Amino acid sequence: MGRPEAGQPPDFIRKIINEDIADERFGGRVHTRFPPEPNGYLHIGHAKAICLNFGLAEEYGGRCNLRFDDTNPTKETSEYVEAIKADVRWLGFAWGEQELYASDYFEQLYEFARQLVKAGKAYVDSLNPAEVREYRGPWNRPGRESPYRQRSVAENLELFERMRAGQFPDGAHTLRAKIDMSSANMNLRDPTLYRVIHAPHHRTGEKWCIYPTYDFAHGQCDSLEGITHSICTLEFENHRPLYDWLLEALQIHHPRQIEFARLKLSYTVLSKRKLIELVEGGYVSGWDDPRLPTLAGLRRCGYPPEAIRAFCEKIGVSKVNSTVELALLENCVREELNRSAPRVMAVLRPLRVVIENYPEDQVEELEAVNNPEDPGAGSRKLPFSRVLYIERDDFLEEPPKKFYRLAPGREVRLRYAYFLKCVGVVKDEQTGDILELRCTYDPETRGGYAPDGRKVKATIHWVSARKALQAEVRLYDRLFRQADPTDVPEGVDWKSTLNPNSLETLDSCRLEPSLAQARPGSRYQFERLGYFAVDPLDSAPGKPVFNRIVSLRDSWAKLKQAGK
Ligand code: ATP
Ligand code: MG
Repeated sequence: MGRPEAGQPPDFIRKIINEDIADERFGGRVHTRFPPEPNGYLHIGHAKAICLNFGLAEEYGGRCNLRFDDTNPTKETSEYVEAIKADVRWLGFAWGEQELYASDYFEQLYEFARQLVKAGKAYVDSLNPAEVREYRGPWNRPGRESPYRQRSVAENLELFERMRAGQFPDGAHTLRAKIDMSSANMNLRDPTLYRVIHAPHHRTGEKWCIYPTYDFAHGQCDSLEGITHSICTLEFENHRPLYDWLLEALQIHHPRQIEFARLKLSYTVLSKRKLIELVEGGYVSGWDDPRLPTLAGLRRCGYPPEAIRAFCEKIGVSKVNSTVELALLENCVREELNRSAPRVMAVLRPLRVVIENYPEDQVEELEAVNNPEDPGAGSRKLPFSRVLYIERDDFLEEPPKKFYRLAPGREVRLRYAYFLKCVGVVKDEQTGDILELRCTYDPETRGGYAPDGRKVKATIHWVSARKALQAEVRLYDRLFRQADPTDVPEGVDWKSTLNPNSLETLDSCRLEPSLAQARPGSRYQFERLGYFAVDPLDSAPGKPVFNRIVSLRDSWAKLKQAGK
């Protein structure tokens, strides 16, 4: 998981870890963590970090903590905590006895902050937020020191205690590290360690009204948990000097921070802020909308977790930001489901076929293979009768060249059944719409082969009308029309690039009767169409609703061919 494919040299993270083990830097230990902020649902980008961190722990016989970075009570909820736990479990990872929370360490973090104050390395500032920004200055010129920077240790300790005691309103004071207001690295210009926020916290309730910043909480939590390798995304490269400064100032266990490139995926967005905008703005049906790249959405859609892990393994880790093609993820799904999904017959846009020479009341059972890739999957019986449905697309009254499927006077093979010939077309007199086809079958061709050796050029799928299950099937397309949805001219809303046709609902599909028993979440290949799964929310017993996970068309192979 997240590990290089067999035969490949170790990636840069594994090289670093191998060196640390050889040098006994952490006594040979490997202890990672996955630190989500519970301010939204996890997405496929998080899956990359999860597979990497949990994967490294498995690979090196170490451990990986799940630690919630819950330091911003105004944006975090326990709904998000529960959703994140469910998603990590679903991906197939476990985090020991207990998940951990930055809020578990609030008391200890407060003590660390006092320790910095006592050492003259932190001070209470009373500039307001706008002034703090102004004093910090632009990146290309040194900032200015706050007039409060020289407060005595005693005064700082007292003010900090009163901040904690709730004696000041939001924004009145902050605790800042005393580092260097002229540093070229903005993160070292006296970064904020604590701010006053009068807001109840989903775990600590009203106990605190000061909260540590990400930068202050993160490294100290890593240290307290004995983390050895603290792996984060590239935006934090500039925070590493601060991460190191704080741990050195406190003289506590010092993990090594390593940065890697975050996942970007084409035709979607992977930022919680943007995802929240889509959910709250009603552009999608919720966090688990199957069109979203959230793990909840992918799960509901029917993505197998194995495919997501395989995808993370394929893309590997690097130091360079790049965009991964959505088609690669879809290809991982096809590879997994080609192995594991049973084949069934389903007609999405039905066209009625009457077989004139087939007896009215006869129903026979034909044998169909469940999965040609898996002989152990066995076979099943399909009912065959006088009236069938075929796909509207599989018939053309005036077929162009290279259209080998059904047409007037032409013969095709019905999958697992007989040769079928079209002998007539019934139309609506007013509209000219095709209502049904009149056909004949050749009883000698049972199983799909003619004893006289004559050939047909196409095999189509079908469902017996008499026994068919009528069901709703949802076809999803890309959520956005362009590969980079945020690439819009100034002043244009990125949401204007949403694909208005990302969901097509077909409500009169006809499925083979075995699917009446399909359980929520189960996945199938609808022959010739794609992979589909039973929607876990909108299905009822005997009345499944299906989501299309991916079509069978391999757009990844095409992209590779085109040299992309
Ligand atoms: P977002 O940018 O979507 O708001 P975040 O980084 O704020 O994400 P966190 O909950 O803080 O979200 O992320 C938890 C972990 O997942 C972090 O270690 C972060 O680096 C990692 N992570 C987040 N997004 C990605 C991504 N697109 N690719 C790889 N790792 C990611
Ligand atoms: Mg974050």
